[in-house]
Amino acid sequence: MIPLSVPVIKGNEKKYVDEAISNGWVSTSGSYVTRFEHEMADYLKIKQTAAVQSGTAALHLSYLLSGVKPGQEVIVPALTFIAAVNPVKYLGAEPVFMDCDDSLNMDCQKLEDFLKKECTKTTLGLRNNKSKRIITAITVVHVFGNMADMETLVRLADEYGLKLIEDATEALGTRYTDGLYEGKFAGTMGDFGAYSFNGNKIITTGGGGLVTAKKAADVERCAYLAAQAKDDTLFYVHNHIGYNYRMTNMQAALGVGQLECLEDYIHMKEQNYNYYREGLENFEDGKLMPFNEKARNNHWFYSLLLTNKALKRDSLMKQLKEAGIESRPIWKLNHTQTMYQSCQAYYIEKAPYYQNRIINLPCSVNITEADINYVIEALRKS
Ligand SMILES: *Cc1c(COP(=O)(O)O)cnc(C)c1O
Repeated sequence: MIPLSVPVIKGNEKKYVDEAISNGWVSTSGSYVTRFEHEMADYLKIKQTAAVQSGTAALHLSYLLSGVKPGQEVIVPALTFIAAVNPVKYLGAEPVFMDCDDSLNMDCQKLEDFLKKECTKTTLGLRNNKSKRIITAITVVHVFGNMADMETLVRLADEYGLKLIEDATEALGTRYTDGLYEGKFAGTMGDFGAYSFNGNKIITTGGGGLVTAKKAADVERCAYLAAQAKDDTLFYVHNHIGYNYRMTNMQAALGVGQLECLEDYIHMKEQNYNYYREGLENFEDGKLMPFNEKARNNHWFYSLLLTNKALKRDSLMKQLKEAGIESRPIWKLNHTQTMYQSCQAYYIEKAPYYQNRIINLPCSVNITEADINYVIEALRKS
């Protein structure tokens, strides 16, 4: 079986995890947690990060510190993993779903139309004319590691007084190589950035996440809230409601080892992507979706867009499966999920188009050229 995406753990990870175990520091205290935070900050060229249990926890804390309150709203993508949406509900707020454009990231033109035509600036904040609720934030996801249009998003968030949260869980290592934000990494341009180290991400800690923020105080606050908001470690004084979201030392030890491999992995992902693309050049039924040309993208997931209408996505996936190849359709759209069907969705048109026509192809860092040739052969035979 050629899997869709599996982790590759072959560097110093085992050494570091062994060390954490033999020191007895396996839980949330321990030097690997702070070391991982510092090394991630260095890598991302920012001052501080806070390591947490998951990308979802990172997003939850980002929404919380963005000031999202019950009865308010957050603009989120229709097309993305549901973990970017659920924390809005954890806080008693409501999502407003926005369409994607041809990059699969948020359609900034539609977003601007919505802000301009469907909302009113008030002294309390931006009000949604339809629901009468205050909109607090926009969440942008860099889908499959592809840099979203941050120049436009930051401008719109500023213009309308909204917090901008970057879900960079799929985009660790993606950075601009051109334009206003040249050199800036995905997750470091908005008010908050969230990363994930789940097993299928470009590097993993088994499960884990990380928060970045424009303001240093917000990052410190995240670490504090993630550790039960403990104000006195001897007498257990807590002045706020905290969470058990802190990353453990074992996870962080794994992460320190994985981070040493990240640049190699990004390089390999890009090479494999290019190899697929060359191999699929004369494939009549589809093409690989491109990445943002103004960025060095991490090429986390490869999306095959089926352009031949007669070719049914599900039967193709079945044929691949029979050939021992794992593939995956894109997510069921968030505004069509049971819990979110009654929420506002603003002209969602492109997302269903892509949802029906994209499959993700095997893209593990260690996939071989022989495996890629085999996948391409199987696609041609379909
Ligand atoms: C993986 C992922 C998350 C959540 O990360 P976890 O670490 O699994 O909680 C959130 N958003 C997107 C887009 C993701 O792909």
